[in-house]
Order: sequence, then structure tokens, then C-alpha cells
Amino acid sequence: MRIEGTRGSVVIVGAGHAGGTVAMELRAAGHGAPVTIVGDEPHVPYQRPPLSKAFLKGGLPEEKLELRPRAWYATHDVDLRLGEPVYAIDRAARRLRLCGGETLAYDHLVLATGVRPARLAVPGANLEGVHHLRGIADARRLATDLGGAGRLVVVGAGFTGLEVAASAATLGCAVTLVARGHKVLSRVASAPVATFLRARHEAAGVAFRFGADVAAFLGDGDRVAGVRLGDGEVLACDRVLVAVGAEANDDLARRAGLACADGGIVVDGSGRTSDPAIFAIGDVSVRPLPYLGGRLVRLESVHNALEQARIAAAVIAETPPPRLEPPWFWSDQYDLKLQTVGLVAEADDLVLRGDPEIGRFAVFHLAGDRLRAVEAINAPLDFAIGKQMVAKDAPISRDALADPSVNIRAVATAH
Ligand SMILES: Cc1cc2nc3c(=O)[nH]c(=O)nc-3n(C[C@H](O)[C@H](O)[C@H](O)COP(=O)(O)OP(=O)(O)OC[C@H]3O[C@@H](n4cnc5c(N)ncnc54)[C@H](O)[C@@H]3O)c2cc1C
Repeated sequence: MRIEGTRGSVVIVGAGHAGGTVAMELRAAGHGAPVTIVGDEPHVPYQRPPLSKAFLKGGLPEEKLELRPRAWYATHDVDLRLGEPVYAIDRAARRLRLCGGETLAYDHLVLATGVRPARLAVPGANLEGVHHLRGIADARRLATDLGGAGRLVVVGAGFTGLEVAASAATLGCAVTLVARGHKVLSRVASAPVATFLRARHEAAGVAFRFGADVAAFLGDGDRVAGVRLGDGEVLACDRVLVAVGAEANDDLARRAGLACADGGIVVDGSGRTSDPAIFAIGDVSVRPLPYLGGRLVRLESVHNALEQARIAAAVIAETPPPRLEPPWFWSDQYDLKLQTVGLVAEADDLVLRGDPEIGRFAVFHLAGDRLRAVEAINAPLDFAIGKQMVAKDAPISRDALADPSVNIRAVATAH
């Protein structure tokens, strides 16, 4: 049932980056109806990227993680229900049931429940000192455990694994990184970027075991003391981070009969699920991406969370939709800022600009005469101009791109 004149009450499940942003966007758009955020963590909506970087290294107080201070929610009349997991959705009655038994009515429901770290089903996986990283509580535990240096094994060479390896090496830990693939970021990065990052980690003392599987975590009492690999090698350690991917928190949606696929909740271009009163945004959603001609993908990035929050808020508040961008991402490791736009797998040709030897370069990825993706290391201008070129999807001159004497701004305008 709709509340006339106010465009309807909104309940947001998940007090994370996407959930917090949709509340802010709704109020910024003048949406006057009740807005409630229900989150299972005890924190106001916060940003996760620093958890593997500055926060882990002890360089950032917890309040700096908050998207908005707690007072913002009171002054903007956003009801915060924290530490309260939602258990079920009654779609016919448009009500939510919280784990405590209470129910909440909604006109529009926004599911922003994110993902949880994947677990390794091997012996010893529950030993003390075997960590996963998703929230503030995880980061606090890991940070405490990393104090006093010692030996850390990181399982997984994706972004989280590499960032934690960099932070721990900077803190003085002896780090060994175990990966199934044969290079770092094997699913997302090009060979020049993967090779460069590996060398940078090795220069910081990180050791790698590629093509390796974890067979078991070995304990000394209740505490992890080693990692046995599939080939029998044992890596002695005092703590472990398992960073082998994530699984969507889509159980609520599945139980409510919403369409789910490819590990998440399927939505249309406006963020609506198979029930038009329910939206899904952020890491948990599987969305059609204009950049991919409408192909469905699940993305885990701040840009995706913000973009989808803005789309859903605009639909609910009946305001103009935001301008969409190709997907982009960043990662900080040591003194490096990696910025990527587009998906490397969408291209079949690459051009390197800059010099990996001096730690500043960009890899431009082409499909025919179109720029499809850019990976930039400490090269923010190449990233910024490349991002515009990928968004524009206009023909570009490969010769100009490959000529280091041609300024990147001139490449963008030379057809
Ligand atoms: C360590 C780390 C580093 C990262 N670094 C980067 C980076 O450098 N760049 C980048 O672009 N992205 C980065 N990301 C990814 C980025 O943080 C996520 O894409 C973003 O947080 C997604 O927002 P979200 O709101 O979809 O999910 P989340 O922020 O995870 O929020 C989901 C919330 O919903 C809650 N929830 C789940 N189920 C329920 C329920 N039933 N009831 C109530 N609440 C529920 C969860 O507990 C959580 O609080 C990083 C992520 C992590 C973990």
C-alpha cells in the first residue's frame, strides 16, 4: 500500500556502504517518507576499504570509517536499527520479520546485505588465529593478532589477500602468500600488472606459493601453527588470513522466492528484483551492466555500491536517474595505487604506457579500435582520461596510444 504524497516508506536491510548511501540519497532527493535501516552489525554504515589498509595498520581511528556520524541519522530522520538481523520477508503483507520476532512494514524494501567471506572446508579451519576479513570486528581481531609481527600465511592472491599481505609486511610480519593460480589477481589483472605487483611484494619480503592448495591448518593446541599444502609442504605460522572470495548474503531473498542467479539477487537496470516493491543493490546484486551490453554480473566495489544506491533512490524518490559509468575499482598496496576501469577480459589487445621499472605506468586494453579497460599504477591522469575514453566508447588511434610522445589528453581527442 502506498503512502500518497510522500512516495512511500523505505526499509533498507544492511547498514553497509550501499544501504547507508541509499538513505542519504533519498533524503538528498527530498524523499519525505519514513526511512529505516536495519543492520546486523552494531555499527552505523561504514566504509570497508580501509579495513585491509590504513585501519589494519593502525593509522585510522574507527570513527573515520563511518559514512556519516551517528548524529546525521537523527537529524535526517533516518531510523537506525543496529545489531538486528532480518530473518524473513513476507512479500504479500509487505512486512519484514526481525530475528527478535518484531515485524516492520514497508512500501519499498531495499536489500543491501552484501557478501560474506568464503570459507575453506579443510581440517583445522576453525582454529584460533585463522582469520577472515569483512567487517570492523574481523579487522580489529586481525590487527590485534598482527601486533608483535610474527609469521602470517595469506591464502588467496585477490585484492583482499594482497592488501593484507602488504599491510602485514609493512608492520614487520614475515608473510607467505598461497594461491591456487599461477599469478596474483589471476581473474582480473593483465600479465604486466600481475608481474609488477608480485615483484613489489617480493621486494617487501613476501614469499609466494603459486599453484598450491591448502590441505589442512595444523594446530598447536587450539591455535594455528602451520598450513599444510596439497604437495605436503608445511608452512609454519602464527596466524592465517583466508581470502578466497565471497558468497552473497542472498538467503533472505531466496527464502522469499525472489529470482537469484550467478551467486546473487537478480535485478533490472533500475535495481528492482522480481518483486517490484523490492530492490537489491551493492555486492549482493546481480545487475545488467550497460558497459557489457546489458550482460548480468555481480560486482564487488564501492563504485558499484554507490551507483546502484543512487539508481534505487532515484527510482523510489522519482527523481532523474544518475549518469552511469563503466565499472571502476582501486587498491592500495605499499606506496602503490592501482586504479582500474572496465574489465580486462573484455579486450584482446593491450598497449603499455609509462615504465614499470619506475613504478608508474598504465595498461590500456583495446577490443578493435575501442578502449575497453585501463589499469593504472601510480598514474592517476592516465586513469582519469582512460576512464572518460572507456565511457565514451568512441574509436581511438592505437598508434597515438602506443606513441609515448603523444600526450594522453591528445590521444583522447585524436580519432
Ligand atoms: C577488506 C575490504 C577491502 C575493500 N577494499 C576495496 C577497495 O579498495 N576498493 C573498492 O572499490 N572496494 C573495496 N572493497 C569492497 C567494498 O567495500 C564493497 O564493495 C562494499 O562494501 C559493498 O557494499 P554493500 O553495502 O553491498 O555491502 P556491505 O558494505 O558488506 O554491507 C552489507 C551489510 O548488510 C549486513 N547484513 C547481511 N545480512 C543481513 C541481515 N539478514 N539483516 C541485517 N543486516 C544484514 C552485513 O552484515 C553488512 O553490514 C573492500 C571490501 C573489503 C571487505
